[in-house]
Amino acid sequence: MPDAEAQTRPILIASNRLPFTAHRSAGGIEFKPSAGGLVTALEPVLRKRGGTWVGWPGLAQKKGETLHFEAGDDAGYEVAPVGLSETEVNRYYHGFSNRTLWPLFHSMHERAAFDRRDWEAYRAVNERFASVASGSAGDADLVWIHDYHLMLAPASLRQALPGVRIGFFLHIPFPPFDVFRLLPWDREILRGLLACDLVGFHVAGYAQNFLDCVERRLGARVDRRTQRIEWGDRTIQVGAFPIGIDFDAFANKARAAAPSPEAGRERIVLGVDRLDYTKGIPERFLGFERLLERHPEHRERVVLLQLAVPSRAQVSEYKELKREIDELVGRINGRFATASWSPIRYLYRSVPQERLVALYRDADIALVTPLRDGMNLVAKEYVACQVDEPGVLLISEVAGASETMREALAVNPYSPDETAETLHRALTMEEDERASRMASLRRRERRYNLEHWVNGFLEAAGRESQALALPLEQDFETWLEPFLARYRVALFLDYDGTLTPIVDHPADATLPEAARRGLDACAARSDTDLSMVSGRGLADIRAMIGRDDVTYAANHGLEIEGPGFEPFLHEDLPHYQARMPELTQALSESAPEGAWVEEKGHTSTFHFRQANAEDHARAADEARRIINGFGFQARDAKMAVEARPPIGWDKGRAVLHVLRSRYGPSWSERVRVVYVGDDHTDEDAFRLLEGLAITFRVGRAEEPTAASHRLGHVEDVHELLDWLAQRPTHELHES
Ligand code: UDP
Repeated sequence: MPDAEAQTRPILIASNRLPFTAHRSAGGIEFKPSAGGLVTALEPVLRKRGGTWVGWPGLAQKKGETLHFEAGDDAGYEVAPVGLSETEVNRYYHGFSNRTLWPLFHSMHERAAFDRRDWEAYRAVNERFASVASGSAGDADLVWIHDYHLMLAPASLRQALPGVRIGFFLHIPFPPFDVFRLLPWDREILRGLLACDLVGFHVAGYAQNFLDCVERRLGARVDRRTQRIEWGDRTIQVGAFPIGIDFDAFANKARAAAPSPEAGRERIVLGVDRLDYTKGIPERFLGFERLLERHPEHRERVVLLQLAVPSRAQVSEYKELKREIDELVGRINGRFATASWSPIRYLYRSVPQERLVALYRDADIALVTPLRDGMNLVAKEYVACQVDEPGVLLISEVAGASETMREALAVNPYSPDETAETLHRALTMEEDERASRMASLRRRERRYNLEHWVNGFLEAAGRESQALALPLEQDFETWLEPFLARYRVALFLDYDGTLTPIVDHPADATLPEAARRGLDACAARSDTDLSMVSGRGLADIRAMIGRDDVTYAANHGLEIEGPGFEPFLHEDLPHYQARMPELTQALSESAPEGAWVEEKGHTSTFHFRQANAEDHARAADEARRIINGFGFQARDAKMAVEARPPIGWDKGRAVLHVLRSRYGPSWSERVRVVYVGDDHTDEDAFRLLEGLAITFRVGRAEEPTAASHRLGHVEDVHELLDWLAQRPTHELHES
């Protein structure tokens, strides 16, 4: 579909909060519009394209209470509220979102609490968001999910609406790998986000961190140059979309606003923040104190006006911070104040916007020194409001905004000395330098405003991502070369879905030419031993491969034959084999049209791929019931249910048996193991080999895997075989 047409289809927005806030009043529950920047930016898109905003109305639901909600005709779009109980508000919102993810993602892991109950509530609420979203999707073809509260929702939404495009934007930083991995549920979060088509961050550094985490924690293939991720058979685009502000609105309001009552004799250094430990307010005060110590000429001439907007006041750490700040203000003012001057003027409240823009306009310096910040809009708003005498912006080098606001003076927020010296520089900066710096900052913010951000994200979200090129030689080299170097290689391969694509009937899955070439070339190397590990029967898999120098672990490893060791048949098998014909018979009788049973001697498989789609679930249920009834184990496979003897044996145990039989109990000192498989029978091998081998899972996007790496397609396995066949030969370790 051409982009222009795509952009006229309805859109779904999901964010933790709705653009309306519910309040309980004497007359019942009332809704008031909330007027954040994001709402101002997204509402016109919703009105133009039509669609729905999904979110929590900001009020805990009482037992039995339903939130009846109508946005009103003037909203111009639909609103779908997600109800949360009081416990959920505590655990999902105050708990996992604000006590776990918020500090961790700001790289303040020592403040992060990890509580399984919070995590479970987060998961449940995310599922609810996804289900409300899918129920309200109508013919929307794009869902735009916002922020850290909803990182699992994309996965549930993808299951409900496989064809919809999903974009996600994170409004806070994404931390580096060694911080992110501290989260006990880090892989689940990554998998949640990988259900999207586009994952956006404020700056390139966060996008890189995300790519690192995906590569190192999930083993997905990542193309750093184009910022794409291959996740099973899907491609996810990652990108940096630095958010902007409604520049003209701020500038116009600043021009119109009355003078600030604070503007007087002294020069104003302005701080505006939510009262949050990420904002570095105490550190800032210490920097200001150091300025007054080192440069006494500023005493009585400068005042630090700090506006701290109350936030999350029910969380104990925020209460603690408030106390700390109160004490610090008292101490510093006590130390320097004179009869007519106090160095710090501290306001713990929010102020109306007309007053805020006047403060921005009238402040000589904005001191924006968070210890970590996704972007920081205050820095941008200050610049937009500098319509008179140009001031100076000091910005923390760890705020996202500092990546683009290069003409600001950058400071390390943890260093009072540096803050003091940079403040001194700002206070003594000549007018021409101030004007040049401010003009450049303003030009950039006017151009890259909020509308530019919305359009940029939506355009990228509507664009189909090109699949990654086949794995580069370099990928295999990075993953395998250090591990394999100078060792004999024991290569284990599954057959169906790994060497050959899955087809309707197993007999049609003959070995593709590229796979044959790769296998032959690997087998020709004196330092490489090949094993096939398949769910097929022994004679069948042997016939498909047709080589005598290969080990065959058939029937999921219950039967093994190979060069140089005794054939293996699990000792409990004869007992079950006797009952197999009867089981096969019962399964065949239960099969709806199109379904059929494959007898493989020791196991059998009930295939329902060719039955009517509406019969699938019922046929599979019935097959499982019959299999269990006969005392066999039912295992789900791709469009099939397998009946296996309930013997504690699987592909993992089979691999171990081959390794021990061929190379002895100290096999791990003699060979390096590589295993490639595509479905969850291979997961047994991936798990057993975790940390012992390099393992690849082929295809299938959403299912978690214990494999160390992912490959998208069967063709990638052929490339891998070529790489293994052609890699340089080394003198072997063992010889
Ligand atoms: N702000 C506000 N009321 C106030 C002071 C500030 O709503 O009394 C706004 C300010 O205009 C800015 C936002 O709060 O848009 C703060 O955004 P920022 O990105 O700086 O930090 P966040 O609070 O999102 O971490």
